[in-house]
Amino acid sequence: MQRWLFLLFMALSVPSFSQQRCASRQPFTTASPAAAESRSLITIPLVVHIVWYEPEENLSDAQIQSQAAVLNQDFRALNSEIASVPGPFAGDVADMEIEFCLVAVTRTQTSFPNIANLYSGGRRRACHTSLGGHDALDPEHYLNVWVSARNDGACGEGTFPDDPQAPAEEQGIFIRPDCFGTTGTAAAPFNLGRTTTHEIGHYLNLKHLWGEGLEDPFCQSDDMVEDTEEQAYSYSEFIGGNCPVHPSFSCGTADMFMNFMNLPADRCMSMFTHGQKARARAAIQAFRPGLLEASCLPVAIEAEPANEEGPALLYNPASAEIALLLPRKDKYEIAIFDAAGRLVFRNPNAFGTPHYIPSELFINGIYYIKIRNGRKIHVKKLIIAR
Ligand SMILES: [Zn+2]
Repeated sequence: MQRWLFLLFMALSVPSFSQQRCASRQPFTTASPAAAESRSLITIPLVVHIVWYEPEENLSDAQIQSQAAVLNQDFRALNSEIASVPGPFAGDVADMEIEFCLVAVTRTQTSFPNIANLYSGGRRRACHTSLGGHDALDPEHYLNVWVSARNDGACGEGTFPDDPQAPAEEQGIFIRPDCFGTTGTAAAPFNLGRTTTHEIGHYLNLKHLWGEGLEDPFCQSDDMVEDTEEQAYSYSEFIGGNCPVHPSFSCGTADMFMNFMNLPADRCMSMFTHGQKARARAAIQAFRPGLLEASCLPVAIEAEPANEEGPALLYNPASAEIALLLPRKDKYEIAIFDAAGRLVFRNPNAFGTPHYIPSELFINGIYYIKIRNGRKIHVKKLIIAR
């Protein structure tokens, strides 16, 4: 059985686009700060950008909600497949103590088919309104999820925190519409929302269990997590028919093929481990601390109801001063973050319109300005160019 499996893997492990379910680039040197497993719940706000070319790619709100529901099960070890985790691995199952709240959905019709893997001058089109996609919302405080088509065979992709090829405004995850959520256009075998679970794993610095590359047949690399044993293969062949059967051996040990950081069909995935939990939470502390102070309040992005005027920037890019139109008579809270997510300006009592902030307080660059009035928060990208 083991040998048969091995030969099967050798025969099928020739890389091809059709097998490459996950397109994330695994960095070869990734810092893994040591940290004790923390006990507190982290809630990560999600902003979903639907960038559609074909009308069926403009997913329903129900399909988006179904994906958020999957995440809140998978990252809390509440998914039903946990019950079928083989006995030897049962003690390794971890509640990641991470939850997700959906704060905004943007919908953009694009003129670019398969925009998810299109670049222009090195910039990823899906991540820029000016290139046919949609700008990220404040990437230090929100997990941006772009849902759009691609033609490289991958269902999804997630950016590692220290990926040098992914600048802040292109950090997040990219999911194909037919691999997103559990209803609507979600199609088997990727119809249980696990592509998004897996790609958020990468976004939180988790590697594939086999380590680097498409597979690791000679057991030469590792995922830097102790309680996931060395493993050779991705299990991406198990997308039709049955799930793998325990025990399936490689590198001298039984493989945890049901781990979310492998690539079998959605229904065959079920768990993260305590080691992965520690690594992911350490990555949040080290690389994505803005998520820890994030808010689940709904965010209105750009589109305003026609008859209700929201705050607006009078000039963008701004040169001599930042001028804000604050339409309501009461006070606004204004916070400005730089592109790295650092708070660089705050005024809890701004009022009057136009309201001016001198731009010499800031160096030239990209900022995110958060304008709060009561429960309503508006976030706008601000460019300062003097
Ligand atoms: Zn992956």
